[in-house]
Amino acid sequence: MTTLFISDLHLEAARPEVGEQFLAFLEGEARGAEALYILGDLFEYWIGDDDPDPYFAQMKSALRRVTDAGVPVFFMHGNRDFLVGEGFAADTGVRLLEDPTPVDLYGRTLLLSHGDALCTDDLAYQAVRRMTRDPQWQAAVLARSIEERRAMAREARTESAAYGSGIDPGISDVNQGAVEDLLRTHGLTTLLHGHTHRPAVHEFLLDGAPATRIVLGDWFTQGSVVRWNADGPILESLPRP
Ligand code: MN
Repeated sequence: MTTLFISDLHLEAARPEVGEQFLAFLEGEARGAEALYILGDLFEYWIGDDDPDPYFAQMKSALRRVTDAGVPVFFMHGNRDFLVGEGFAADTGVRLLEDPTPVDLYGRTLLLSHGDALCTDDLAYQAVRRMTRDPQWQAAVLARSIEERRAMAREARTESAAYGSGIDPGISDVNQGAVEDLLRTHGLTTLLHGHTHRPAVHEFLLDGAPATRIVLGDWFTQGSVVRWNADGPILESLPRP
């Protein structure tokens, strides 16, 4: 059996080909998986579980079919869909995970994270992250009307695009020291995350012991998946059909 990991699909109606590939993935490979882990930024934006948007409703129904079929599906928040909540979990049968979360797989323990908290060189982003992860801030946002929240999300995405295009790539990647601190804190040597859209397997030494950091890619031009079984992990791209 194989456990699957994906992240950074950034689903939105404006990118229909991503959603089509995701739906095919859910109906196909995911149905035969031992479990599916979604490590954040499944959605390009999420304004609350009460959003009646039909595109997101379609994606929720597809996730519900997978969990109804008996495949456990887990979701960790990204920096775009941090407002995914218990309503989403109830609608889909998907279980929400804290960031980070350790997981035991086939005799090995790995640490799962979205990855944005590790980008500690990006001080401006970390300030935004602290604000948007604050429960009081979230409650105040969720108290606003759907229309107000849609406008906020549009504005945030415009700002994010402008910020992202002007930032040094070294600043927006994870900080190696932050990676090592996180693994040390958990007493682990394997980390799996997304967020940076830089798919790779990084091998390094952590206090003299071999350590691994696996980075999932985004789904903008193709899919990206980590398949993990008794032989270990494989990071692969999923060509667009
Ligand atoms: Mn992200």
